[in-house]
Amino acid sequence: MKHKLISVAKKADIPKEYRNTPIGALLEYQNLDRSFDTYAQAKLLIGMCMDNRKHLHMPENFAFIIRSGGANLRSSEFKVSYAIGVGGVRHIALIGHNHCGMVNLISRKEEFINGLVKGAGWRKDAAEEHFLNLALMHEIGNEIDFILSETTRLRKRYPKIKVAPLFYKVEDNRLYCIA
Ligand SMILES: [Zn+2]
Repeated sequence: MKHKLISVAKKADIPKEYRNTPIGALLEYQNLDRSFDTYAQAKLLIGMCMDNRKHLHMPENFAFIIRSGGANLRSSEFKVSYAIGVGGVRHIALIGHNHCGMVNLISRKEEFINGLVKGAGWRKDAAEEHFLNLALMHEIGNEIDFILSETTRLRKRYPKIKVAPLFYKVEDNRLYCIA
């Protein structure tokens, strides 16, 4: 499937459905240098990759953030439910990014295993088993397709919550909307 990334360089670029929502505010903070508002409680739940190359520019208290490889929230459901049920958020921004390490995990199998043996003191067979048991569950295939499938899954699971599929480019530190 072919998907389009919508760049947001001015307020009018923000898709209508996100304008005047916490998702629009996130896009403005990150891309448009909007001055920070004051928040007494979180307005948004952000799901994003654990990757170290990404930094979000936003005010304190604005958002809950769950970070996990590939922005995969499948094993974080309780935390998502908590942010909604107790935290009161009604919007989720799901942020994928380019050059994600959760793509093509099999190519990093040896590195993964040897790194655990050398760095963490694991036995080789234990490290191998660990990789084989869990790599498939964490593989995302393609960054954009995965974010879209996670978006669909979360929209079904939480029908009244607005979920926005977004994309972070590590070269320019900007957020893009996935159309
Ligand atoms: Zn990643």
